[in-house]
Amino acid sequence: MTGIVYKSTGSWYTVKTEDGTVYDCRIKGKFRIQDIKSTNPVAVGDKVDFKLETKSDKVTGVIEHIHERQNYIVRKSVKLSKQTHIIAANIDVVFLLVTLNNPPTFTAFIDRFLVTAEAYGIKAVLLFNKIDTYTDDELLEVKYLAALYRKIGYECIGISAKTGKNVDKVKSIMVDKVSMFSGHSGVGKSTLINTIEPGLSLRTAEISEQHQQGQHTTTFAEMFDLTFKARIIDTPGIKGFGVVDMDKEELGDYFPEFFELKSKCKFNNCLHINEPKCAVKEALNNEEVAWSRYRSYLQILEGEEEHYRKNNYDE
Ligand code: GDP
Ligand code: ZN
Repeated sequence: MTGIVYKSTGSWYTVKTEDGTVYDCRIKGKFRIQDIKSTNPVAVGDKVDFKLETKSDKVTGVIEHIHERQNYIVRKSVKLSKQTHIIAANIDVVFLLVTLNNPPTFTAFIDRFLVTAEAYGIKAVLLFNKIDTYTDDELLEVKYLAALYRKIGYECIGISAKTGKNVDKVKSIMVDKVSMFSGHSGVGKSTLINTIEPGLSLRTAEISEQHQQGQHTTTFAEMFDLTFKARIIDTPGIKGFGVVDMDKEELGDYFPEFFELKSKCKFNNCLHINEPKCAVKEALNNEEVAWSRYRSYLQILEGEEEHYRKNNYDE
């Protein structure tokens, strides 16, 4: 039998087959996937093959195979530095809710999020929420930001989770897909999900720049079926969209507008900092690349450097 993992509580997995039947499944013996050093071999969103077992009239499943993942997001374990926890797998789209104020969402934060989504290989959509509260000037700022990110290739929608404006557009993207919602606390994630599917109230993922040091949450991700053929993965208690390890040379590949220009840089390993004949710097000076994006790029690059320095020091 084949199904999708909807919930995991450590040793048991809730698996739903295509006809909607739900089975409690577990893993027998040692079960490892090569190349992934994770603390959990099976995650929410995984497609698995399992066989049924009957013990004292109770039918349960034994997972025997995990289908190849289209993508997966991880949380690094602080204690077991090299080990990761797979939060969820096979996510089709991740929505980032953005507000100008209450709370403010800065471009540095948006860009970090987008880099992570690119690195994971997950489509990201920006939702500018609370447009019912903005002044004309603020609406202009939203327009400016939406134009900036649309130009790079990201879909942007101005919405009001409260009044329902443009929520139908969000729903149409979600049909036949597995979605996740992210954004700072207070941007309106719960309100939006309630507008999308009244009655389903989730504690959604809260993105934070701070890593959880030591404090391990015991909550698990869970997938929910919505009434319009859409599915949501809820990740209560999980702060952050995960951290992706990458080489400095790799970072530019996750800024789509930089990636496009890279072949025109003089050096093929150009980091777009001080190298001569750098196409990204040229585009920046011609205002074809946004300064806010370049600033975010440098910030992340610096962070990576620090990360490497620290790691080398530790070893
Ligand atoms: P979460 O922390 O991201 O889940 O945010 P909530 O959904 O709890 O929303 C935080 C606050 O913002 C609540 O008081 C909501 O009523 C309010 N809110 C959310 N979306 C909107 C919106 O589109 N317009 C207005 N005016 N308020 C909103
Ligand atoms: Zn360059």
